[in-house]
Amino acid sequence: MRMVLKFGGSSLASPQHIHHAAGLAAALAKKGTQVVVVVSAQGDTTDEMIENAKAVSASRSQREMDAYLCAGEQMSAALMAMALQQQCVPAVSFTGFQAGIQTDDCFGCARIQSVNPERIQAALEAGKIAVVAGFQGIDREGNLTTLGRGGSDTTAVALAAALHAHVCRIYTDVDGVYDRDPRQYPNARRYRYICYNRMLSMARRGAQVLHDRCVELARDNRIRLEVRSTFTDAPGTIVGR
Ligand code: ADP
Ligand code: ASP
Ligand code: MG
Repeated sequence: MRMVLKFGGSSLASPQHIHHAAGLAAALAKKGTQVVVVVSAQGDTTDEMIENAKAVSASRSQREMDAYLCAGEQMSAALMAMALQQQCVPAVSFTGFQAGIQTDDCFGCARIQSVNPERIQAALEAGKIAVVAGFQGIDREGNLTTLGRGGSDTTAVALAAALHAHVCRIYTDVDGVYDRDPRQYPNARRYRYICYNRMLSMARRGAQVLHDRCVELARDNRIRLEVRSTFTDAPGTIVGR
């Protein structure tokens, strides 16, 4: 069994959060599952970095913004690997580049063109959890790129496809996909199952819970997506055919 788990920013907001998320990954690894963990930047780090860059320059080049923003996810990846090691689980972190994620050169909204998962595969075969920085890749010239806001979801599915994982599980701060944003509409209803196309149209209309490109990639590669809460045991939502 091979699984890709993705943790969003609110699931990694503090050292305690990182340890809790690491514990979820470790429990699966201890049962014999090969686990890849994809991480977002902690908490509101990306928003804060954007504000910081604005304070430095009014005319920010997209190339430098991407070079800067990639660091948020890289910090999370290293911290997650440290947390796993602290829990006595072998783990190693990778940037998007080290994970073999190549994109086009559309800075700020790059699309993944290929994934060469050799190093991830080797880490899994060596019995380690591979922790990958989401949201990023490199273009043909070796420049750092980012996949657009919310793009760590897409990193997770792209790796699931390249590694022939059985499941891609998106851990987030709500316990599944609802018919409307449950934070704005307390009466929103949760889906137990939702098909790719309905999920895709919701994501394209702005349902932040999944990046639209992630849903397209899952559909095109028939990856089973599970959306779950990091903080409860609720079964969540399965996105599939
Ligand atoms: P993460 O940091 O884990 O990637 P996001 O903030 O990107 O989390 O996405 C989760 C948020 O998506 C939820 O907190 C919720 O407010 C919002 N959301 C919007 N529409 C929906 C929906 N239809 N179902 C579930 N959550 C939704
Ligand atoms: N950190 C990035 C963002 O805030 C990517 C992600 O969270 O998926 O948009
Ligand atoms: Mg998100």
